[in-house]
Formats: sequence, structure tokens, C-alpha cells
Amino acid sequence: MKITFHGVRGSVPTCGAEFSEFGGHTTCIELMTDEAQIILDAGSGFQNIKIRNDRPVIILLSHFHHDHIQGLGFNRGLFSRQCEIFISSALCSGEETHGYIQSYYGSKFFPVDLLSEIPHLKIKTFNEVKSIFAQAFYLNTYQLNHPGDCAAYSIETATTKLCCLLDNEYKESQLEGLVGFTEGAELAIWDGMFTDNELEKFLGWGHSSIEQGIRFLDQTNCKQLAITHHAPERTDYQLRKIKKIIRNPDVFLAHQNQGIHLG
Ligand SMILES: [Zn+2]
Ligand SMILES: [Zn+2]
Repeated sequence: MKITFHGVRGSVPTCGAEFSEFGGHTTCIELMTDEAQIILDAGSGFQNIKIRNDRPVIILLSHFHHDHIQGLGFNRGLFSRQCEIFISSALCSGEETHGYIQSYYGSKFFPVDLLSEIPHLKIKTFNEVKSIFAQAFYLNTYQLNHPGDCAAYSIETATTKLCCLLDNEYKESQLEGLVGFTEGAELAIWDGMFTDNELEKFLGWGHSSIEQGIRFLDQTNCKQLAITHHAPERTDYQLRKIKKIIRNPDVFLAHQNQGIHLG
């Protein structure tokens, strides 16, 4: 499985020389397996995904906050592909997923009606997607702690497992459940929007801290932890300073266009 981080920012895209190293696009992570191209969230980084025509494409949305869906209407490959693309969220029914996308990409906020422009975009429930691809990989989900709710995902192939825990305000009460959910994962992706110091001011905003991720990895048997959903105002200089004080070599701050092979 190859993972590529196309967007590593939280909340809103950011640009400028001081953000060029880690990148300014919002959340979008591509997983390439032999059987499918799986895309976790469609933040602004989604515009840079090369939609594959040689295998099924699955878009899994963790939730519908704008930094996770704002790129959906801006990838030309989505319009030109003729084969089906599955889109799903474990958060809700297919009808609700349809309604949320329809509102965000309806004529008040977007020039064309996205869902009618892309008839090959098929909205499915999570369980439907899970069963369509059951022979290829095992998909699982876990409810996270986030305003309006949010779905974590895990993807397990014969050789590897990846878990994505975005967006989540971590609570000690989640430890047991998340340790079980991420059991044996080669890589877990963590919401590092805040530092411990900042967290006190933003309780209830629905995000975790970088330090909580580092402590979480110590308590699990995941191999590696990628910290992403970086705060939009956090510059490369500040992220480099944080990088230097992370002592665990299995924890890293993800950057845009970073690719990792698993399995
Ligand atoms: Zn977010
Ligand atoms: Zn969110």
C-alpha cells in the first residue's frame, strides 16, 4: 500500500513562503492498493490527486466540515472519469451524505450542481462499500469525539493496516477503544492541530494535541504515528522546532506530497 499526503492542514488552506515546506492544503490522504485507489477526505489537497482509471476509486469522508470536503469539486479527473467512483461516509446514511454534498455543492455555493455533473459519482453507505471490497481489504470505522461527530477509518490488507483518526478531541476514556481499533496498525494518522499548551484554550473545538499523539503511540502497538491536520497558522519554522523535540523516531509530522510505502 502506498500512502500519499496531499493535504496536511486543518481548518483552512494556507499559502506563503513560510508554509511551503509542510504545505498548505487541507486534509486529503491517498492510499493506493492493487485493488483500489482509496481517498480519505477531500480537503483542498484533493485537487492534486490523479484519479486512476485502471482500478476502482473510493472516497471516504470522515465528516462534512469544510476542510474535509472543499476540494471535492475541484479535481478535473473526477469529471472526466467514466467509471464509477464510490463516495461514502460512515457517519451517516447514503441519503444524508447526498444531502450534505448537495447543499455544499449546490447553486448557492458552487456554479454547477456537482452531483448531476458527475453522474458516475455513486453515493454508498459505508457497509455497502465495505462489502463490495470485502475480498480485497477489510474496512472498519470508529466514532471519534468531534463537534457534529466524525468517523475514523481503518484499512487492512493481507500485508498491512492503516488507521486514520481525524478529526478527534482525544479523551482518556477513548484509550481502550482506540488501542483496540488501531491494534497492529503499521501507521496511525493523528490530529495534531494543537500543542498541549494551546489545548486548554480550545477545549470543545474537537482536536487533539501533538503531545497526546506521542503519548498515545507509547500505549499502543501501532508501529508509527503520522501527525497531521497542522494548525493553519503554524509555520515551517515552528513545525521544525516541534520536530526537533519529538524523541520517538516512530512519530513524524506529515508534510504535503509525502509518500510512504506500507506492507
Ligand atoms: Zn478538520
Ligand atoms: Zn472537523
